[in-house]
Amino acid sequence: MARSNPSTTIEVLAKTSLENILLINKEGYIVFQSESLTHNFGYPPNSMLATSILSYLKQKDQLFLAQAMENLIGKEIDSIKGETTIRDASDHKRYIHYVAKRQEQYIAWRFFDITAMKKKHKQQLEAVYIDDLTQIPNIKGFERYITNLLKRSTSQAFTIFKLDINDLKVVNDMLGRDIGDQVLISVVKRIENFLGHRITFLARLEEDAFGIVVRRMTDIQEIEALGRELLKHINGQIVIQEYQLVLSVSIGASFYPEAGQTYKDIMLSTSQALQIARQKEEEQLEVYTPFESEKAYRMFTLRNELLRAIEQQQFTLYYQPIVCAKTSTIISAEALIRWIHPVWKVVPPNEFIPALEETGLIIPLGEWIVRSVCEQLSQWHEQGYKIRASLNMSAVQLFNEDIVSVVKEGLVTAGVDPSYLTIEITETIEITKKSVFLQTVENLRALGVNISLDDFGAGYSSFSKILDLKPHVLKLDRSMINDIETDYTSFEVTTALVSLAHRLNMQVVAEGIETATQQKVTADVGCDLLQGFLFSRPIPSADFLQLLATHEPLTPQ
Ligand code: C2E
Ligand code: MG
Ligand code: MG
Repeated sequence: MARSNPSTTIEVLAKTSLENILLINKEGYIVFQSESLTHNFGYPPNSMLATSILSYLKQKDQLFLAQAMENLIGKEIDSIKGETTIRDASDHKRYIHYVAKRQEQYIAWRFFDITAMKKKHKQQLEAVYIDDLTQIPNIKGFERYITNLLKRSTSQAFTIFKLDINDLKVVNDMLGRDIGDQVLISVVKRIENFLGHRITFLARLEEDAFGIVVRRMTDIQEIEALGRELLKHINGQIVIQEYQLVLSVSIGASFYPEAGQTYKDIMLSTSQALQIARQKEEEQLEVYTPFESEKAYRMFTLRNELLRAIEQQQFTLYYQPIVCAKTSTIISAEALIRWIHPVWKVVPPNEFIPALEETGLIIPLGEWIVRSVCEQLSQWHEQGYKIRASLNMSAVQLFNEDIVSVVKEGLVTAGVDPSYLTIEITETIEITKKSVFLQTVENLRALGVNISLDDFGAGYSSFSKILDLKPHVLKLDRSMINDIETDYTSFEVTTALVSLAHRLNMQVVAEGIETATQQKVTADVGCDLLQGFLFSRPIPSADFLQLLATHEPLTPQ
């Protein structure tokens, strides 16, 4: 380690100076420390000697200063000036302003402690953001907070409540500002007491209005419930000095991202809601709803309900038998999703599948369906019922290639032969990214599962779909079956369709068989399999097992 004697002139100077001085040799080691470093920074005399100056400095500045000192020694520059932080003897960070100059073969570092000044500046800055009276952030602080929140989190939902004290002006005018101020302080206390840790941020936005941010709430009912509770806790009697007052507030709420993308927009939505709340006769609460139509609102609520439903496992699969047209024995079972809602009870899929698709929730749910059906097949096989099963997949699911490995894993885990599983595809939407969709279907076929084209003959179907999908099974839609009894053309079309399907090596299933006549006609035209209420409605898995256990061909009900 390099050490050398500092020049005596500097030593004398340094000893008498109140300035903090360090003398550094060209290797960067301290060879002298002024006495002021003991007073000001707590380093005992000579304790810093033979240590590197850099080890005391802010890490971020070290590289720059090492380079600058080298340039100083090399006489490329004459001095270095600036601000940085230095560690004191108790390891606290202290802000310094420094000047480093070449002094013979050394570098003399002179510096002042500017920590106090910095702190004061910070306090002054903070004061701009704090409300004097209530000591909570003011509107500038609120804006800064929300703006940062928007910068940081694009996906994190949050709710803003704007709370306005009714008639504070009257209190101020009649009883004096002091009393009005006490009311404001009491309101802050009531908000804090009630919301406690749920508050992410609380600020005073105006003379008589507060802003509250609560994170992670996107359900309108939940927001309304919290707003209502807030009203309950804040409204009521309040005693200030000798006065008994009745406190009442109005609350407007809005939530991000639906309320807007910028601070300004979000506050506008919140204020709009508050405006409506103010005009209400009782329960002065309003949650901003961005929805133009009732339907959009329902969809929003449904989306939240669905999320909860998945978490709470409210979905279940019902099974409907598919029977042999000739013998009526059960050949297969179609899995049909049901949502067992705590209030609405059994919700049919048409009412929630579109919302699941729109939100992408169909993906995780679809994976669960695959696993469940494979598991179910394995159980039936173990119990001696070697039947097949089919499950429905919507186009959204088939745009996600991962579904292929999900099906593969489901089959392998359950130990079921792929030929026992059929994937029913309803192509109700216009396929734009056709290649991905068809490639997924192709990959599923390669696994050995059967592909079935569902709802053929309904609105959208066309022969091109048969060419595209090359299904193993064609399911004739209920609307076709309805017509064949009465409409001769329909009868002829169906007959031709069945024989075409057979020529293409496809099996034909007739859906929606409700009457004995429909059963007879569909069997006569050559449909291989039949499905419909006539045999059984979709039923829970336990009931389906009972059906299997009778070992009887299903007799029309
Ligand atoms: P789908 O695949 O064509 O299923 C047949 C639908 O017809 C079922 O309605 C079934 O209950 C009903 N049905 C069966 N026999 C008769 C009958 O004789 N008469 C009448 N009127 N209806 C009958 P469900 O269960 O309400 O399902 C409706 C649609 O929802 C399904 O049509 C399918 O497209 C979709 N879906 C059901 N479960 C799932 C699922 O797990 N995933 C996906 N992606 N879609 C599903
Ligand atoms: Mg189906
Ligand atoms: Mg169908």
